[in-house]
Amino acid sequence: MNQPTSSQHQPPAASQPASLRAALGAATPLLWCNPHRVETPPETQAAGQRSISLADVTSAQARFRRFAPLLARLFPELAATHGVIESEIVAVPAMQRSLGLDAAHGRLLVKGDHGLPVAGSIKARGGIHEVLEFAERLALRHGLIRAGQDQPGDYLALGEPAARALFGRYQVAVGSTGNLGLSIGVMAAALGFRAVVHMSSDAKAWKKARLRDRGVEVVEHAGDYEQAVAAGRRQAEQDAFAYFVDDERSLSLLLGYSAAALHLRDQLAAAAVRVDAAHPLFVYLPCGVGGAPAGITFGMRQLFGPHVHCFFAEPVQSPCFLVQMLAGAGNPSVYDFGLTNRTEADGLAVPRASELAAAVMAPLLSGVFTVADETLFVDLARLLRTEGLRIEPSAAAGFGGPRMLCETDAGRDYLARHGLAGRMAQATHLVWTTGGLFVPPAEYDGFLARAAALAG
Ligand SMILES: *Cc1c(COP(=O)(O)O)cnc(C)c1O
Repeated sequence: MNQPTSSQHQPPAASQPASLRAALGAATPLLWCNPHRVETPPETQAAGQRSISLADVTSAQARFRRFAPLLARLFPELAATHGVIESEIVAVPAMQRSLGLDAAHGRLLVKGDHGLPVAGSIKARGGIHEVLEFAERLALRHGLIRAGQDQPGDYLALGEPAARALFGRYQVAVGSTGNLGLSIGVMAAALGFRAVVHMSSDAKAWKKARLRDRGVEVVEHAGDYEQAVAAGRRQAEQDAFAYFVDDERSLSLLLGYSAAALHLRDQLAAAAVRVDAAHPLFVYLPCGVGGAPAGITFGMRQLFGPHVHCFFAEPVQSPCFLVQMLAGAGNPSVYDFGLTNRTEADGLAVPRASELAAAVMAPLLSGVFTVADETLFVDLARLLRTEGLRIEPSAAAGFGGPRMLCETDAGRDYLARHGLAGRMAQATHLVWTTGGLFVPPAEYDGFLARAAALAG
């Protein structure tokens, strides 16, 4: 292992724009580390119209809690958890061995959002939060609940006919590659809203079918995710009773995701996983538009300061967050770099990042790495074989992270700069698996067949 360097502030080796840009344009997997990451996160951070802080993270969590009894009533699958929508952390030693990560690398854990109930993906966090926030605002305005009223059970009124009649006058709309639509559509329809999901052409047929089965109107668009969002935004603007969940701009989504950090802190403590200077925590998050991983990173950095290191994972053809971070200003798309935005990771098939998420991440993010689609299928199959976990291709993007960090020049440089090279045996690597629960068996078998063909 290399020694920690004495200088903490040498220029990062990863900022070799020519070679980095060449690898980016050639769709070769790469790791970029953020030269602007600060050790101690600012207490408040500009996020579009306003500033955000840890208080916003706790208030998102409080909102989920207020709604929990109602959610338990609306969704039988939440009865056991009394309306809490959360996922497990699990040690995956066989997966770790199979990935070639020995004890000197630390320990590999999975954060299993692939099993999140109701939505079947990480979108259960942000998407459901925004629908709940909108419903709460309407209900307050119409006197169905009162501010500060948060005794268990108070919000059950929002499942009663008066509230449903109110919600039924409103449309909740969203543009999505699939999973955000599943989360918004299912929650909005369950509360009695008219739900409309604008889907891009890369959205999977089964996701459209699942939504239509639940009474959600699906509008199909020939273009990509960005065009689906733009079309939905335009339609909603013309309707005073339409509320558009804007994945590219929404603070409510980002904060809904951020609440995951509070629960995760308790889970890590319960599992006796230490996070401090001697025990770094590395988190690997699949990234589409950036709202989900940015929200979680914001929450984690507020709680763990310099000791948590968050890396985003993007498909080699859709590294929109990476090109945004490299550009610093403006809002470039992956097409500008000659890339296609074509990937089987439908949850990550986004050509242009959220500027809101990128601004929040500028001082907080550790880096971004890219993954070839082949690797997604191989790791998806590997996770089934070694641990029996079933995930979708997008959710496999994080598994290449630990080796990217430990074995590339950019990664070694990052570890050296942060004095972590000698600490890896005590490190924890948390790979966030972001979707999979509702993938139909035939679809999943197709993923395994792809992996088998690659291996054969
Ligand atoms: C949406 C999604 C992500 C990434 O979330 P963004 O907010 O788009 O960055 C990751 N994995 C899956 C399965 C998703 O559906």
